[in-house]
Amino acid sequence: MASSSVDAASRGRHDDPLSTSLQFLKGVGPRKSADLRRAGLITVEDLLYRLPFRYEDRSRMQPIVSLRAGMRAAVLGEIRSANVVVTRRRGFKIFHVVLADASGAIRCTWMNQTFLADILKPHLSAVVFGDVKLDSSGLHFMNPEYELMGDDTTAERTGRIVPFYEKTGTVTPNMQRRIVRQALDHVGDTIPDLLPQELRVRLDLMPRRPALEAAHFPPTEADVETLNAFRTPAQRRLIFEEFFLYQIGHAWRRHESSAERKPFSVEVNDRIRGSAARVLPFRLTAGQRDALKEIVEDMCRPTAMHRLLQGDVGAGKTIVALLAAVVAMENGLQVALMAPTEILAAQHYSTIARLLAQTRFRVELLTGSTPGLQKHTILAHIERGTANLIVGTHALVQENITFQRLGLVIIDEQHRFGVAQRATLQAKGLHPDVLLMTATPIPRTLALTDYSELDVSKITGLPPGRQPIRTWVKPESRRDEIYQLMREQLDAGRQAYIIYPLVAESEKIDLRSATEMADHLQAEVFPAYRVALLHGRMKQDAKDQAMQAFAGGRVHILVSTTVVEVGVDVPNASVMVVEHAERFGLSQLHQLRGRVGRGAWESHCILLYQSPWTDDARERLKAMADTTDGFVIAERDLALRGPGDFFGTRQSGMPKLRTGDLVRDHAIMEEAHREARRAVEQQTLSPELLHFVQHRWQDQFGLIEVG
Ligand code: ADP
Ligand code: MG
Repeated sequence: MASSSVDAASRGRHDDPLSTSLQFLKGVGPRKSADLRRAGLITVEDLLYRLPFRYEDRSRMQPIVSLRAGMRAAVLGEIRSANVVVTRRRGFKIFHVVLADASGAIRCTWMNQTFLADILKPHLSAVVFGDVKLDSSGLHFMNPEYELMGDDTTAERTGRIVPFYEKTGTVTPNMQRRIVRQALDHVGDTIPDLLPQELRVRLDLMPRRPALEAAHFPPTEADVETLNAFRTPAQRRLIFEEFFLYQIGHAWRRHESSAERKPFSVEVNDRIRGSAARVLPFRLTAGQRDALKEIVEDMCRPTAMHRLLQGDVGAGKTIVALLAAVVAMENGLQVALMAPTEILAAQHYSTIARLLAQTRFRVELLTGSTPGLQKHTILAHIERGTANLIVGTHALVQENITFQRLGLVIIDEQHRFGVAQRATLQAKGLHPDVLLMTATPIPRTLALTDYSELDVSKITGLPPGRQPIRTWVKPESRRDEIYQLMREQLDAGRQAYIIYPLVAESEKIDLRSATEMADHLQAEVFPAYRVALLHGRMKQDAKDQAMQAFAGGRVHILVSTTVVEVGVDVPNASVMVVEHAERFGLSQLHQLRGRVGRGAWESHCILLYQSPWTDDARERLKAMADTTDGFVIAERDLALRGPGDFFGTRQSGMPKLRTGDLVRDHAIMEEAHREARRAVEQQTLSPELLHFVQHRWQDQFGLIEVG
């Protein structure tokens, strides 16, 4: 959207007090400014938009005598004694302090932090904050936060509600408060406000300068609980501001791109409909038909499509994408289909090549392991336009490919790709239509971020004849029962997957256990059946062979690391055993389970866990047993992991936020989204807002656009 160099230049402008570098504030020496810089705080604005994460009411400090077990409290007192005790059991070092105020005294205990003896010395005044606990020797604070008061009881730290900030290097809490105070004084009484006046009045939002003041140094009458819930008018105003600026960028870009015309046009007539129908091996479900209709309507528009096709695992997204591809190819355009793994790309390629065998369209497969000479030929075909549909992995964006006439880009399992990769492939065409596919439903919270300007089609329902999948959560010790169940299925002609986790730190160990398991199963448990092993470290040929042997029914049990997690389709497989299921994320388990239940037989998904398991793991496996609905699972996953981890953060286009929180402040985000669209559509953007969107948006939110 904009180059960050423009912004770098404007940051240095001296006329704007918000862009003053922190090192020029009084009391910020080179050391502190280096610490602040390391925490990402460079300008006055950076500092003022990092709100306190907690507030403490020091005008109403809790008298020690009133403390009760289970309270969360702050007390101010004098340190009466301080000493380090070494426990007999395992040699723990415990640091004890006795803190006293006019009403009484309480013990504070820190485990293994003996360095505190140099800080918390007798006769000093300190504030201690934390949970009050009770044990056989009475009430105490365990590992509380602390702050020394010294003799200095200036207004920033006592007798009022005081703010707490994330720790930044050697800058103590009190120094942080003083620097923020300086920064607020530095910017003066008024600062320009990007929020339109009309909007502020209508939504009852505080002006910017007072909001910053009150968010950092709340008035004494403010309510500490409301502050700690981030719901004061000042906090709400600042969070809204951030979300609004973010949404304005999306809304504006959507508006702009709707004015850009594609350099080609797509039409559908009876001949093309007939051609698509000949490719189709079965009747589309109603859900597939609706989705296809929306996609093709977009393609026929003069502006580029940006559409997300959402459908649970097994819903049948591939055929919908292929039919869209046929429409594009019939219009003389090339199509690129990008998949996240080589196995999946190879599988798409073979399905598509089979379905297109009777047509005049030429399909090519291009992955990182395509041999050099062959690659050369394929690239030439792509450039000359004699290759119509190119299936590949991210090699499609890395290789030096020139398309002759790329009109449609399809990205399968799009959440597996980084935003940058998607954007690069897109840039290889001239405003190509873009279709993203995902089996991971986008939770409400995230739908308003990265995806807010995409159009969404949903395939609801599954193809006919599917049998339900039964999910079993079992301790590893009940393995024999599982083998029994597998045997029944194998005897009935079905196939089975056994999945091993492969986490980076213990890759070797897991690889060994997967290999040993494959040998053991072959030799001792299922000698009558063929077992094959598939893992990420195998050569591509060997991987393809194993996968093809399984798909062709020549291998009955596939022992695999998670490479089969995404997308592969072997309808005859009816058993999925996941070893160490407690180590997998919820969405991952859902993907894995989606590998079975694709045929006409009842299927089984067995989640083996090894105790002890964490509460989180128990929650995840319980969620899996409770539902097969991908949407419910995605919401549970988000709740368990938080939005940061959900899509792998930065990579996948989560905005870099300073004040707002996607989960906590979701309602504010919805409001901001509505208002931003409205402002863009009614063309009420001020020149300042437009400047922000064009020159600073990208830098502030750290994003590249999607779709
Ligand atoms: P996903 O949405 O998970 O990518 P796929 O496109 O791999 O699902 O489809 C899953 C399976 O369902 C495939 O074997 C596919 O051939 C089959 N399938 C898709 N649509 C239909 C349909 N309308 N009728 C019957 N089978 C279908
Ligand atoms: Mg798929």
